[in-house]
Amino acid sequence: MSAHDFDDLTLFITGPTYIRPDIAQAAALPVFGHRDAENEKRFGPIHAGLRALAGLPESGGDYVPLILNGSGSTALEAAMRSLVADDETVLCVSVGAFGDLFHKLAVVNGKRAEKLAFAPGQAMDLARVTEAIERCNPAVLAITHNETSTGVANDIQAACDLANQRGIMVLVDGVSIFGGVPLSLPDVAPAFYATATQKCLALPAGFGIGFVREEALAKAERVKSRGYATDLLAQAEKAAKHQTLSTPNTALANQLAVQLDHILHVEGIENRFARHERMRAMVESFVSELPGYDLFAQAGSRSPSVTAVSCPTGVNRADLAGVKETLRGRGYLFDPGYGKLNAAMEESGGRLVFRIGHLGDLTEELLAGYLAVLGPVLTGLGG
Ligand SMILES: *Cc1c(COP(=O)(O)O)cnc(C)c1O
Repeated sequence: MSAHDFDDLTLFITGPTYIRPDIAQAAALPVFGHRDAENEKRFGPIHAGLRALAGLPESGGDYVPLILNGSGSTALEAAMRSLVADDETVLCVSVGAFGDLFHKLAVVNGKRAEKLAFAPGQAMDLARVTEAIERCNPAVLAITHNETSTGVANDIQAACDLANQRGIMVLVDGVSIFGGVPLSLPDVAPAFYATATQKCLALPAGFGIGFVREEALAKAERVKSRGYATDLLAQAEKAAKHQTLSTPNTALANQLAVQLDHILHVEGIENRFARHERMRAMVESFVSELPGYDLFAQAGSRSPSVTAVSCPTGVNRADLAGVKETLRGRGYLFDPGYGKLNAAMEESGGRLVFRIGHLGDLTEELLAGYLAVLGPVLTGLGG
């Protein structure tokens, strides 16, 4: 096989995302042994870079960064398995498919789990979260920072404040937003915060990334059956030496080290965050100029990394599949919306939703090129 066998598409889906050429090349940096001194040359700076993106000091700051082989869901599962005890209830707040996934990870791991669900497109409402807390008395609250299926970003600071005042530990799924917005973990103060490499960090998938609070690690000691790869205590023990529990993907480790150096020292964290906001504004103004199309997510809670768009009535899933093929012919991968959400929309006669990922290393130039091609295709739909 050769490069001719694959289409080289620019990805405007919500992850994996576009990879810069220098990052693609960084995969070819030397392979290394993960118990050798060469490991520290990659993972030392990786730990430091992740700390900076999470608003942590160079050392300490109450959190330990963890790099888990797997993906974002591995990090979420590790938190569920290690931080919810058998005699406790975890309240999972879901504003969409990824909130549902977090709840499912609790259930399939035998945890006593409750779910509080909000309508698609809505952000979590703290009055209802408070009611649910009073009703089911959870020891742990699981929330989504950025709901990738609907383009909703939740106010995690407010939710963590509410929970921490009551002595409830918070687990946060930040998979599709970490690295795209300012974050200060010491201020937000969750017990655990999870992300992955293939969203705002703009790398291939392959590591789940977690930040665990020291006091949450102390609690993990009394949680039974934490598993092996999902045991945060075992993970933290290796992380103290900047090592992974099992053999890491060394190509991805090289890429992560190069990427964090780029983010911190070439682009600059603040510039990266500002670029995500400008791309959201570009997409919002694009949608406002498309007759019949509307932003799907609740105003005030719209994500800086993914925008969900409601189609005119009458646009069906076959139409969106057609848009995808048209865009493929132009060198782009279009996201026709979250499958289950659109299936439900079609069933209930609601308007379908597609998404535009504007995260990671996508630039305003690339986005402008994409929107210029997408606009006329969308205006031709729905009669
Ligand atoms: C992508 C995503 C996940 C799943 O991550 P994987 O890396 O595919 O396991 C979980 N939560 C959110 C919010 C996501 O966007």
